[in-house]
Amino acid sequence: MAEVFDYVIVGGGTAGCVLANRLSADPSVTVALVEAGPPDSDPAIKVPAMVGKAIGNPRNGWGYLSTPQSHADNRQLPVPRGRVLGGCSSINGMVYFRGHPQEYNDWNQPGWRHEDLLPYFLKLENYEAATTPWRARGGPVTVVDIPKPNPLVKRFVDAAEFLGYPRCADFNGPEPEGFGPRQGAIRNGRRVSGVTAYLDPVRHRPNLRILTDHAVTRVLLKEGRATGIEVQVEGARREIGARREVILSAGAYGSPQLLQLSGIGDPAELAAKGVTPLHALPDVGRHLHDHPASSVSLRTSDTSSYGLSLRTVPRAVGIGLNYLLFRKGPLASNVFEANGFVRSRAGLDRPDLQIIFMPAHRNANGHWLPIGHGYGIIFVALRPESRGSVLLAGPDPFAKPLIDFNFLADPRDMDVLVEGFTLARRILAAPQFAALKSDEVSPGAGVRSRIDIEAHIRRTLVTVHHPVGTCRMGDVVDASLRVKGLTGLRVVDASVIPTVIAGNSNIPVNMVAERAADLILGARHG
Ligand SMILES: Cc1cc2nc3c(=O)[nH]c(=O)nc-3n(C[C@H](O)[C@H](O)[C@H](O)COP(=O)(O)OP(=O)(O)OC[C@H]3O[C@@H](n4cnc5c(N)ncnc54)[C@H](O)[C@@H]3O)c2cc1C
Repeated sequence: MAEVFDYVIVGGGTAGCVLANRLSADPSVTVALVEAGPPDSDPAIKVPAMVGKAIGNPRNGWGYLSTPQSHADNRQLPVPRGRVLGGCSSINGMVYFRGHPQEYNDWNQPGWRHEDLLPYFLKLENYEAATTPWRARGGPVTVVDIPKPNPLVKRFVDAAEFLGYPRCADFNGPEPEGFGPRQGAIRNGRRVSGVTAYLDPVRHRPNLRILTDHAVTRVLLKEGRATGIEVQVEGARREIGARREVILSAGAYGSPQLLQLSGIGDPAELAAKGVTPLHALPDVGRHLHDHPASSVSLRTSDTSSYGLSLRTVPRAVGIGLNYLLFRKGPLASNVFEANGFVRSRAGLDRPDLQIIFMPAHRNANGHWLPIGHGYGIIFVALRPESRGSVLLAGPDPFAKPLIDFNFLADPRDMDVLVEGFTLARRILAAPQFAALKSDEVSPGAGVRSRIDIEAHIRRTLVTVHHPVGTCRMGDVVDASLRVKGLTGLRVVDASVIPTVIAGNSNIPVNMVAERAADLILGARHG
């Protein structure tokens, strides 16, 4: 092999960037971070409010679609995924949540109880306003309170309180329940990604190689041990060796895809797709789940919302200048600035429904800056029961994987979403919004019956981009994230998470990678 490193990390996304930093801190080992996509040079990646443009730029993504979703009108859902240094952390919404402490205890994996994990959440965090033992300063990931949320945010939180829902003092504290403003991974008005938090400070290390535009096509196995990877660069295949470990951090779609391309998975399924089975692990690519969501949207002639209209052109110019000169104002915000976590029914021990406020009209025309004014609510089923899969289309490593969420297969998920719809409408009909004299444009006031509400949800269902479970801890990897039955191969990314966190997934993946780095270094020293 032309090149050999101690650790070869596949995928320069959220988890890969953490590992590259932590493992290369030991100058006696060499580390390669191998990323299929280009560097994160798109300017839209840096400006928080341009997140829609960053997602929409085909240069930054894999361009996936789901398989037709049989419980959602057979629609193929867009599945944005970062294919760029930083991975999804370079195109995500920067919303910062750790999730509910009890979620981690439910994983039921040794060493992964919340009390074991809190030190890692604290280690990664830099929250200047920290005043409790639950929050920390000094870590690589800066998080801020959005300094001046849109004025509609206050109406939203007040409306929820009017309906009897509590305010939440800190969504990253011990009780993330109730309504309030969200925090964002933003520093000096710029996105905080895996690249800015973990790679930029250590790029100069001589023992770290960052290889972009290197598409990994399989893991090389010899007598039950991962010895390296095969990559394609500028149309040519070559091999990179790993003396100690290959670590897959290619994400919830990429990692199971690479395992299967390498002959690791369900033997019958692999053979059916034209891949020679080498190591049987039937759960690879199974148990995919993600947060399904739908929305209610309103239009208004009131101009408070983010958006462009003739009357707000001078304001828009001011906003642009404020950002260019001071990196402040709405362009320094990640737009969806407030939400609530609630229980959809009595008898639950914690929230299963997220109510996200949109202080902007959702464009059908795909502009990143909304044209016209409006607002609405996205409601998300946080603890979905439905399970899907990520399987190969065939043996070609460049064929897109078959991503089947199987959304709404379990009717309990629809029940949660119908409750979300009902609560969204109640909040938006509260007196706090009355002065705006708005019209509901989606689904429209005529939709009242359960049948019509369900039809609206099936017609508009989307993912909010938190896939997990496809290399599940306990089945595919052990509690040290080693692929079962093989040596020298780990998976460290969202795919190992057994059940999705009730909140956004980036910070939980950062935590997984921080802990994995300790496990890997511990294995080296112990
Ligand atoms: C549009 C969007 C918005 C989101 N918003 C939020 C949010 O606001 N807050 C939040 O907490 N979470 C959010 N998330 C989710 C969060 O970003 C992800 O959970 C997290 O980034 C997953 O990290 P990962 O390391 O598992 O995978 P990724 O970050 O996806 O990294 C995987 C990397 O591996 C690379 N890769 C894959 N296959 C190969 C291959 N064969 N060869 C080489 N490289 C490969 C990919 O290109 C990618 O860079 C969002 C996600 C998306 C897509």
